[in-house]
Amino acid sequence: MRVEARAARCADALLRPHDRTSRTSRRGRVLTRVKAAGAAPGQYRIVETRAPVAYLDESLAVEFDTAMIARYDGCGPRYTSYPTADRFGGDFTADDYVRALQVRNDARPAQPLSLYVHLPFCSTICFYCGCNKIVTRDHGRSAKYIRYLGREIDIVCGLIEAAPAVQQLHWGGGTPTFLAREELAQLMQMLRNGFAIAPDAEISIEVDPRKVSAETIAFVGRLGFNRISVGIQDFDPEVQRAVNRIQSEEETRTVIEAARAHGFTSVNVDLIYGLPKQTLAGFSATLDKVISVSPDRIALYGYAHVPHLFKPQRRIAVDDLPSAGAKLGILALAIDRLGAAGYAYIGMDHFARPDDALAIAQRQRTLHRNFQGYSTQPDGDLIALGISAIGKVGATYVQNVKSLDAYYERLDARALPVMRGIALDADDVLRRSVIQSLMCHFELDYGVIESMHGIRFTEYFGTELAALAPLVADGLVVIDDRAITVTRRGRLLVRAIAMRFDRRLRDGNQRAHYSKII
Ligand code: SF4
Repeated sequence: MRVEARAARCADALLRPHDRTSRTSRRGRVLTRVKAAGAAPGQYRIVETRAPVAYLDESLAVEFDTAMIARYDGCGPRYTSYPTADRFGGDFTADDYVRALQVRNDARPAQPLSLYVHLPFCSTICFYCGCNKIVTRDHGRSAKYIRYLGREIDIVCGLIEAAPAVQQLHWGGGTPTFLAREELAQLMQMLRNGFAIAPDAEISIEVDPRKVSAETIAFVGRLGFNRISVGIQDFDPEVQRAVNRIQSEEETRTVIEAARAHGFTSVNVDLIYGLPKQTLAGFSATLDKVISVSPDRIALYGYAHVPHLFKPQRRIAVDDLPSAGAKLGILALAIDRLGAAGYAYIGMDHFARPDDALAIAQRQRTLHRNFQGYSTQPDGDLIALGISAIGKVGATYVQNVKSLDAYYERLDARALPVMRGIALDADDVLRRSVIQSLMCHFELDYGVIESMHGIRFTEYFGTELAALAPLVADGLVVIDDRAITVTRRGRLLVRAIAMRFDRRLRDGNQRAHYSKII
């Protein structure tokens, strides 16, 4: 199955023997080469196969190639950072973080600033979950957590001088809306007291539709939130029972409609393919419902069953999981349907309406990637608050302690709750630029990297370019003397391409657990 829309001069010109499967003709027909049994080499029959997918911007299309996915679908990092978080070390301490903030203070002009706040509480457990969360019905626990977040904000703000206004603020979890309304307001006020938040900042929150009313969404909007991310995963009741997340279409619609009615400018929804009891028919019905509410962005994650890492997954029966083939079929269906509905493929597991800021940023080559995934905000510093949160300041990454006890203990001692981090060397910074360019633009211009980092690209990356040769032969990338371009066929596999530039992965001196690429 493939998903590609392309203007064609004429069907004959497109359907040469070395071409692959289907093409869309100028008249919008999908034409497929079919080799009849017993036909001589190079003899094909042209058939019209199905209605064309209607990408509003064909440059953002993606091609689904089952054979290539089977060949390259190993495990690999998601590259929300480079080096990846498993390379962070405990030798990076709170003192190192303080030094990084001081270097930031001395930099002119100061880097743009973003904030992330991790709110870990959930009132029920979803069996597929791999997040750092605390499941509890005791709402008193969040009050204490917010008090300590206040302490962390005070310490960090005391170390930052003359910061530019915050351009992006995200609350993730866990379930941020586990907090009572007065707690939501208290936390937002603490952030506004500590940081100057730009009037036009992107302020986003993750919402569990099972737990919030339209009134709460209105309240959250009044606090300044203008973007919302809504977890759905799958509307199929069988799947919902298997993952312990019963969520009706109605309560989901209520939240999305309330967000639109109260001035939220962007609605994202999360879906997961590969869940237990999932079927093509069931997920197709879910896609119908999702497309009918027209979210601005859709994240379509693959479920990774790793019960040795995430305990709740032990409650999922392995026999209920779709086979690898069925899982790929569901992904293919979703890509096809989202493309037909006009969604642009942004990268990895993200889709956006062509008029959404993400799709526009991708076309204008201003897209970035950070711990929240793809972003329209300029690459700057990220201050992360709360347990397990990961921040980025200059050429360092820093992660907070993961348990509440450790978090409270450090803050009681007036210390930053740093667990680990990493200071990047020049090679890391260079490779970060390379990987970011591939992940965001599906293209890497040697000249841009050379002028940024003072190297000769083909000399510095001779080994990596050689390692890409099989991917070139398979049509996933095109390499010339100016650039590396990821083809439509290679886009779904961009992680496999980026991995060729990951020196720390190649050195392999640490064991890491990565998710499947597809
Ligand atoms: S998926 Fe979200 S709501 Fe469910 S347990 Fe995980 S963090 Fe909580």
